[in-house]
Amino acid sequence: MKKINQYVVVIMVIIASTRVFASIPSDEQCHDINIQTLGAGGPEIDDGLASSSFLVWINGKARIMVDAGGGSTLNFEKSMANFNDLQAILLTHLHVDHSAAIPVYIKAGFFTGRKTHLAIFGPNAGAGFPSTTAFISALFDDKQNSAYPYLSDNIREQASTDYLVIPHNVSPENAVWQQALSKDLSIAAINVVHGPVPALAWKVIFKQCSVTFSGDMNGSSGHLVLLAKDTQLLVANNAIGQEAGRVAKNLHMTPKIIGEISQQANVHKLVLAHFMLRSVSKTDESRDIIKKSYSGEVELAKELEVIKLSSGDSGVEESMTD
Ligand SMILES: [Zn+2]
Repeated sequence: MKKINQYVVVIMVIIASTRVFASIPSDEQCHDINIQTLGAGGPEIDDGLASSSFLVWINGKARIMVDAGGGSTLNFEKSMANFNDLQAILLTHLHVDHSAAIPVYIKAGFFTGRKTHLAIFGPNAGAGFPSTTAFISALFDDKQNSAYPYLSDNIREQASTDYLVIPHNVSPENAVWQQALSKDLSIAAINVVHGPVPALAWKVIFKQCSVTFSGDMNGSSGHLVLLAKDTQLLVANNAIGQEAGRVAKNLHMTPKIIGEISQQANVHKLVLAHFMLRSVSKTDESRDIIKKSYSGEVELAKELEVIKLSSGDSGVEESMTD
């Protein structure tokens, strides 16, 4: 009888353990969410790369764009993404290499027959930069001296179209800000230090899976560790090598800092992006430095390549086209 009771206890422990494991997100559950790089570069035009931009694909549809740098629009076409599927564009900051293609995408939406609102989330104003809402007004508002008043139909409520751009200023103020876009899809952000420039790191969360984007930042606030905690994938901007100068280090993370943040946050997989001539020539050295503190897998972003969040194989797929 005593032996039977022992068996019962063991079985109960096994059942309880199984329940605990079932509540822990497993990377194998993350096969419905992938990312695709549209722009792996920074602001240079002699590096053969488009400026910063990424798509987050969910259940085969491109739902979120993170940054909209110049040149990314051609890769958007090649990706075969449908602009009408996009629920939101998340801007890390309002530097040219992250935002200059916004008018291109907005105008293109007229020709794709988009019928729904498009949310654009980005930072608040500071250090001579407009807020995201003021940035959109400066581009499209026909009541001001905007750059493209002929596109003002897309920011004014009117009968002729439901395709309106809805900008939002996000001010996380040193804590993770989060908002649901639909039942299973949320976005989260935290403020990061990119010199004096108002800047955000972003996370896209689908069910129990997430991908985090550092944006441009120097790592000094410690905030990216909070946002990226246990994330399946961190896309970290690698704009400088380890031996960069003081000004560049005030704007960007060194490889050492990328490695330390990735380890502290228990990032499952790391992808380096936002290459510049000064960093792309040192990726082997930078990867070695990162590997000294980070034990996970490190990949380099390649334009149009799809990167899986799920574990298992290499995590890289051929591009959505061919
Ligand atoms: Zn940049």
